[in-house]
Amino acid sequence: MKIIFNDNQEQVTEATRMANSIFENQVFYDKINLKESFDLSTASPKIISELIKHSSLEFKIDLFYPSGWRAIKYRNTIAYVDHRFPNTLFLNLKKINRKPEDIAATIIHESIHALDNEAIDYTFGHGNNSSKGKANTAPYWIGNLALKILNNDFNTESIIFDQEENDD
Ligand SMILES: [Zn+2]
Repeated sequence: MKIIFNDNQEQVTEATRMANSIFENQVFYDKINLKESFDLSTASPKIISELIKHSSLEFKIDLFYPSGWRAIKYRNTIAYVDHRFPNTLFLNLKKINRKPEDIAATIIHESIHALDNEAIDYTFGHGNNSSKGKANTAPYWIGNLALKILNNDFNTESIIFDQEENDD
């Protein structure tokens, strides 16, 4: 798994570098392997960590700036994936005024969705887009694990990911 970002946007470039550093960090895989299970997942944490480690997926970040009706639709959306564009992460330019660590955690969260879409034998999403009760799903837990590692603080406060995504 590798994150690609080719535009010129400093925050996102830094977040991309951080996200790729997570994929090369053995602590990341070790922590997932220690988990017993994820909610809403047919794959064990160990299988998911293997899938992340060995996936050849190149996940490209595409910035978008919602205007008109899309500004309303995406008012709470930091990022989303669309099954019609399986290798693309759409990142909302209106929402990137955040710490690069937070953006990187969002990228990791979305990359778990991309991996879930790619892994036909398993499913490990988080159902609807409400963040309630999702902390122990793979995309949420792994996204927040990335944040903890990047902040070098395992007591760091968890963040809420995609409020609305891919509702086509
Ligand atoms: Zn999500």
